[in-house]
Amino acid sequence: MSVEGKTAVITGSNSGIGLGIAEELAKLGANVVLNSFTDRDEDHALAEKISAATGTQARYIQADLSKADQSRALIEKAGQVDILINNAGIQHVAPIDEFPVEKWDMIMAIMLNSVFHTTAAALPMMRQAGWGRVINISSAHGLTASPFKSAYVSAKHGVVGMTKVVALETAQEPITANAICPGYVMTPLVESQIPDTMKKYDMDRETVIKEVMLQRQPSKEFATTEQLGGVAAFLCSDAAAQITGTTISVDGGWTAL
Ligand code: NAD
Repeated sequence: MSVEGKTAVITGSNSGIGLGIAEELAKLGANVVLNSFTDRDEDHALAEKISAATGTQARYIQADLSKADQSRALIEKAGQVDILINNAGIQHVAPIDEFPVEKWDMIMAIMLNSVFHTTAAALPMMRQAGWGRVINISSAHGLTASPFKSAYVSAKHGVVGMTKVVALETAQEPITANAICPGYVMTPLVESQIPDTMKKYDMDRETVIKEVMLQRQPSKEFATTEQLGGVAAFLCSDAAAQITGTTISVDGGWTAL
C-alpha cells in the first residue's frame, strides 16, 4: 500500500509544513486537499500548481478551524479522506498570568478542538474505505515544555493524548494514528525571523541560527518540510502498519536532552 490514489486532507496547508507535506504526498501520487481560513486566488493557485506539477488532483477548501462546524464541513466537502493530517497551528507567547484568554481559547480551538472534530468526521470515511491514516503534527513541545507557551504546549501535549485514544479505538482496524513531533523546521515564517534576530543580537546569520534559534536542537540543523513529508509518507506505508498510538520526533535530538 502506498499513498498513490489516496486522498489526503492536510489542514493549515497554504504555507509552511502543511504545504510541504502536501507537495511531498502529491509527488508520491496522492490527491491532496489544501486548507486554510482564507479564500484568496493565491490559495487556489497553490492547488493548481501542485496538480500541474504532479498530475494528481489537488484542491483547496477554505475552512476556519477555530470553528467546530467548519472543521467538520472541511471533511464533508473533501468527500473522501484516506489520510488526515492535522497540521493547522498558531502561537502566542506570554506568561500565564498575562496570557490573553482569547488567545488561549483560539489556540485550543485551532490546535486541539479541531483535531477532535476532523478526526470524528473522517473516521467513518476511513472505516467505509477499509484503510486510513491519522497523522497529527504535534511538536517537541508536545513532549517537553518551554516557559511562556502555556497554550501551545498544552494543546500539543493534548494532541499526543488524542492520538493515543484514536489509535486504541481503531487498533483492530486497518487504521493507524500517530503524531509527528518536529523540533524547529525551516519554513518561510522561520526564515523571515532571521534578519530581525541578527539585528537584535548583532550576530551573523550562522550564529543566530545555531546559538539562538537552534539553541535546543543538538543537531544545529533545521528539519525540512520535505523530511516531514517523507515521515508522513512512511507512516502511510505497509512498513508502518503496526506503528500506531505513538510519536515520531523529527527534532535533531531535542527531546533526548
Ligand atoms: P505556518 O504559520 O506556516 O502554518 C500554519 C498553517 O495553519 C497556515 O497554513 C495557516 O493558514 C493555518 N491556520 C492558522 N489558523 C487557521 C485557522 N483558524 N483555520 C485553518 N487554518 C489555519 O506554520 P508552520 O511552521 O508550517 O506550522 C505548521 C504546524 O507545525 C503547526 O501546528 C505548528 O505548531 C507545527 N510545528 C511547527 C514547527 C516549526 O518549527 N515551524 C515546529 C514544531 C511544530
